[in-house]
Amino acid sequence: MTSSLPVLTLVIPCYNEEAILTDTCAKLSSTLASLMVEQLISPASTMLFVDDGSKDHTWQLIKIEHLANRLVTGIKLAANAGHQRALLAGMMHAKHYSDCVITLDADLQDDISVIRTFVLRYLEGFEIVYGVRNDRTSDTSFKRNTAALFYRFMDTLGIRLISNHADYRLLNKRALDELSRYGESKLFLRGIIPQIGFKSDIVPYERKRRLAGETKYPLKKMLSFAFEGITSFSVAPIRLIAAIGFTLFLVSMLAACYAAFQKLFGDPDAGWTSLIISIWLLGGLQLMAIGIIGEYIGTIFAEVKKRPLYSIDSKLEQIHPIGTSKF
Ligand code: UDP
Ligand code: MG
Repeated sequence: MTSSLPVLTLVIPCYNEEAILTDTCAKLSSTLASLMVEQLISPASTMLFVDDGSKDHTWQLIKIEHLANRLVTGIKLAANAGHQRALLAGMMHAKHYSDCVITLDADLQDDISVIRTFVLRYLEGFEIVYGVRNDRTSDTSFKRNTAALFYRFMDTLGIRLISNHADYRLLNKRALDELSRYGESKLFLRGIIPQIGFKSDIVPYERKRRLAGETKYPLKKMLSFAFEGITSFSVAPIRLIAAIGFTLFLVSMLAACYAAFQKLFGDPDAGWTSLIISIWLLGGLQLMAIGIIGEYIGTIFAEVKKRPLYSIDSKLEQIHPIGTSKF
């Protein structure tokens, strides 16, 4: 009976998380242990901490936890690859020995009590389970509003996203295999995974505040992540440029008729203000258009190089055989 239980791996990306790692490890460890006692998951289930090139003592702490607790495994990336790539590295590593993985942030802002519900959904036959925040009051009102705007904008562009879902989700082996076929360098997992399209379900949860340490997503990084999400999933901004260009062309034809009329019958000196304004307006629009097109060319450039998305420096595998643990 036990052997048919699914092997679950919790994948936790960590970048400079020394302030919370020990606490996180203890909490996740007891969550896993209670699921094992309930016989919902296999005793071979583990946590996989992905050290994303941290500059503090994160990796040393992972190593210490690993020696003390057989549920702790880890991989260390050779350099900081970013949250999305660290998640991918963890999932691609875990897929070789897991039946399902759950990805979650090291700060435990995502309520870990729903891990059990994720597993129950998996056992019912769902292949992807999305954690959805039903309450964002722990986020600043700025983050809440910009996030709402972003989801609405993506919806308008026809990009399928699960509203208020970040990277807290369960994927089964088949979904992980599908995911491994998406080799894009601009990773936007919350856009890619709904495209896989297997049987999925949603589990609502309450998002908490960070326990300790600082957010690794300041405003600049958040904006660039949102922009990457848009440009790697839609060419709508380029179409918008074409539509603006066409509208301006029509307006300028009318303006040209008006200018010709003024020249023939009105005051020939009038209108320099509008002339300057239109030069600045068109100049600005052109620069913006070149910028957006440049962004797409940059994306193509990054994709054609096909560079590896991350390099693994070292690994801490499960060392103690099952049954000898003292967790
Ligand atoms: N993270 C990472 N690499 C990075 C930035 C962040 O692995 O370059 C991890 C970080 O340690 C955390 C998760 O990604 O586990 C989410 O980051 P954070 O909690 O700072 O984001 P926020 O919740 O503020 O959006
Ligand atoms: Mg966080």
